[in-house]
Amino acid sequence: MILRCSQCGHENPGDSIFCSSCGNSFSENKELTLPGGVKYVGEFKDGLPNGQGTATYPTGAKYVGEYKGGRKSGQGTYTWPDGKKYVGEFKDGDRHGQGTMTLPDGTIQKGLWKDDVFVD
Ligand SMILES: [Zn+2]
Repeated sequence: MILRCSQCGHENPGDSIFCSSCGNSFSENKELTLPGGVKYVGEFKDGLPNGQGTATYPTGAKYVGEYKGGRKSGQGTYTWPDGKKYVGEFKDGDRHGQGTMTLPDGTIQKGLWKDDVFVD
């Protein structure tokens, strides 16, 4: 995991709180490139995505919403490249809580999700 400093461009280890080159703080909105090419722009805490953020995946998928400790957690919207869309609650990176899934053909799954699986 790499934290690229927005002020000087220096690439720091992902757990950095300050840029080792210019001393810039990473607690505000910065861009992070995760292994596998995931781009993250948003709020950080202790070098991890935490708070409001946007992630763009190499597959074309996109997540806009809340993070806790580096994982999707809280209210968010995840859009797949094929047009599927989930709007609702996440926990530890999975769909978890109340949410609505809309499929490309218009089918809607609305209700409770648990560990990334639609329950009811
Ligand atoms: Zn810097």
